Amino acid sequence: MLMFGATRADDLAREFGTPLLVLDLRAVDAAAAAIQRACSPYNVRISYAAKALMVTALVRRLSVAGLSVDVCSLGELVTAERAGITPKQITMHGCGKSAAELRAACDGRVGRIVVDGLDELRALDEHSRRGARDITMLLRLNTGIEAHTHEFIRTAGDNSKFGFAPREESRAYEILRENPRLRLVGLHGHIGSQVYESQAFSANAAALVDSLARFTNAGFPIETLIVGGGFGITTRPNASDEILDLDATIADLAQTVRRATAERSLAMPNLEVEPGRALVGNAGTSLYRVVAIKCYDQRTFVIADGSMADNPRPALYGAYHHVTSVIPSSDLHEVTLCGRSCENDEFGVAMLPRSLRSGDLLAVASAGAYTYSMASNYNRFARPPIVAVGDGPPRLYVRRESIEDLLCNDVDA
Ligand SMILES: *Cc1c(COP(=O)(O)O)cnc(C)c1O
Repeated sequence: MLMFGATRADDLAREFGTPLLVLDLRAVDAAAAAIQRACSPYNVRISYAAKALMVTALVRRLSVAGLSVDVCSLGELVTAERAGITPKQITMHGCGKSAAELRAACDGRVGRIVVDGLDELRALDEHSRRGARDITMLLRLNTGIEAHTHEFIRTAGDNSKFGFAPREESRAYEILRENPRLRLVGLHGHIGSQVYESQAFSANAAALVDSLARFTNAGFPIETLIVGGGFGITTRPNASDEILDLDATIADLAQTVRRATAERSLAMPNLEVEPGRALVGNAGTSLYRVVAIKCYDQRTFVIADGSMADNPRPALYGAYHHVTSVIPSSDLHEVTLCGRSCENDEFGVAMLPRSLRSGDLLAVASAGAYTYSMASNYNRFARPPIVAVGDGPPRLYVRRESIEDLLCNDVDA
């Protein structure tokens, strides 16, 4: 029987229903502690990239553990505020920020804003002139380092919509010189997600130091470099190619920045990382009930009561989730696990018991990040609840959506 500490998976399914997202707080705490251990020797600050899983109680817990929070929309900002996070601990991200989001930054609701491009800097410039506050800001740069799990390449940056292109920097200098309200304190570069290539992080950090030198020469001393998130997690049992040594990665990138700044007689900047997936990805498990099994000559389809509505990741970008039966068995065969949406919503191929029947429970691992936060109401399926385990009795972090929730915005015109 699959257990979460002392809690049985089948008890959770009975009490809270399926589909259900189980969040194991011991795994969240362990991931946070591991990242803190890697970062503390180099005084690297950690912000949780909350888009991975943005729910009030989780963000509050990570904040109590000492992490700051990155938000990238008004909805995420209000969630952080509801969690009691102080503005100083909140950094606003996002490309294409709305007027309301820029106003929130100008009203002091976030400690810092990361400006994603020239048009946004122009808009922030205007908003800041209407307000009374100084704006603490960073510029997101397109460093041209692109990481794709096991490779990274240095490009001109043409493949990414994010950040400032180098040719826009001089125009940014002009805006910043003319508006003393805009206090540029740092530079930011984020290279991608599920990255296992330690050197990609160092290459990005080195590129940011090049930029830091340019900005310093232009009269803008930079005190902070944010090197992004994207630290890969292991999703397959015994995977040898899905390993990232966090301690070595952080040590490497910190030493890269130390060396590169020393060579140019620049002061060592404050360093920051912003992991999302690495904090919560493997803490989440989706529980589903089998609703049907269909055997063809060549293939067996197992249909679960979830779908691409509660987890679009396999359909969207072929994400792998390890699937097991809640009751283990040694007599396994290969099946294709599907959801029940009116789409080709295969979760992938899984080894499941030959004895599996309708009503049995399945566990889909690594569902903590970009699963609930990317869920939709396709087919008017209600989003599942999130139940937190591993710290006292199981408790709801998010309740199940009701049919009334689904209808509440329809206008009976
Ligand atoms: C999404 C994102 C992150 C976090 O990425 P993970 O792969 O979840 O660690 C960090 N920084 C920025 C700017 C992001 O957009």
